[in-house]
Amino acid sequence: MADAFDLVIHAPRAVCDGAEAARSIGIADGRIVAVEPAGSLAPASRVVELGPDAVLLPGLVDSHVHICEPGNTEWEGFATATRAAAAGGITTLVDMPLDSLPTTVSTDALHAKRAAADGRCHVDVGFWAGAVPGNLGQLTPLHEAGVLGFKCFLADSGTDDFPPVNAGQMEQALSVLRGFGTPLLVHAESAEAAAAIGEASGRRYADYLASHPRGVENLAVAQVIEAARRTGGHAHIVHLSSSDALPMIASARREGVPVTAETCPHYLALTAEEIADGATACKCSPPIREAANRELLWDGLRDGVLDLVVSDHSPSTAAMKELGSGDFGAAWGGISSLQLGLPVVWTQARHRGFTLGDVAVWMAERPARLAGLSGKGRIAPGYDADFCVFAPDESFTVDPARLHHRHPVTPYAGHRLRGVVRDTILRGEPVEAAHPRGRLLARRGA
Ligand SMILES: [Zn+2]
Repeated sequence: MADAFDLVIHAPRAVCDGAEAARSIGIADGRIVAVEPAGSLAPASRVVELGPDAVLLPGLVDSHVHICEPGNTEWEGFATATRAAAAGGITTLVDMPLDSLPTTVSTDALHAKRAAADGRCHVDVGFWAGAVPGNLGQLTPLHEAGVLGFKCFLADSGTDDFPPVNAGQMEQALSVLRGFGTPLLVHAESAEAAAAIGEASGRRYADYLASHPRGVENLAVAQVIEAARRTGGHAHIVHLSSSDALPMIASARREGVPVTAETCPHYLALTAEEIADGATACKCSPPIREAANRELLWDGLRDGVLDLVVSDHSPSTAAMKELGSGDFGAAWGGISSLQLGLPVVWTQARHRGFTLGDVAVWMAERPARLAGLSGKGRIAPGYDADFCVFAPDESFTVDPARLHHRHPVTPYAGHRLRGVVRDTILRGEPVEAAHPRGRLLARRGA
């Protein structure tokens, strides 16, 4: 009789449904088919026995990644980004619709994206499309072509071919998306408030921070909430930095408004007080704020007001980061952290009493749910056999030379981090650099 499983993983510590337990996991045809108490499964042709120092996590799902291919592949491409993702324990990512040429605001552009990604990905990849002024008529064709949802900006995106929408246009998009059941991801900074302040230049981080006060975010978050309330469409606030906005989001959710929110590893780990003048590796928008703000973001995760933690991997060339001049006005606003997100978050989370079960919910289960990827993000029967084997008590010092991002510029250089990704398993097989097996994901039903 043939074995019931292609692979059985015996894990004394597996994270299932937000808690660690000793489990044996049976896998057939790349899917999880059985999750049982440890040692209870029949033998299989391949067996992996994990030691007590390793935790089996669901493969992480990163729903906020900018891959700049085609067009700006010298910033980051599918091969390099997905290799870095795999090294960081991520088995699925969703690509953002800007920073490539063309931007993903039409079905032609989506086809160009998919063609660029095809055969180059080490992990599974889905796509968000853009909602920009004038492309309302493209939302339905893009949805039918399989995008997982849409992204818009309320402020300048930094690129002319992805202009911001105004509050009315955001509402129109939300009304259309309500019928699809997919989210509108919103970069929530107010264009009007930002324009009134103007951009800072020079090396002082305090000046850069002062030019992006919390109010710029707070105003926009209020607009997003009211648009979701009026339309009933699901609005998702990306990369929230201002903790001031948390009570607004909490009260809207109590009232049944369909709004969710994410934050990023850098807002949970770094603080304005520690950023040296000229340290443009730390420039992102919205900015990294004060230590007290960081603690309130952690409270937001504890209270469930913040739903998920994703990288906002936003790469550029090293030259664009202006590391030489240290000019915050001229530097690219974006932080690359695909490979480091899990240890960065875990290093901070463990001190605050969180478990790897919490981390798996923030970084796998909920991003998968946001993107409608029903077979991803959990260790449970019927899910893809995607795993991250993580040694939570080991530590390492970040050496940029070991990053697979196209450009190893990182604000974490030299940081001592807790937690080492030992293996990444995609649909039952280890990810191997020489053999990209990632699939291009489309919305279910597309
Ligand atoms: Zn982004």
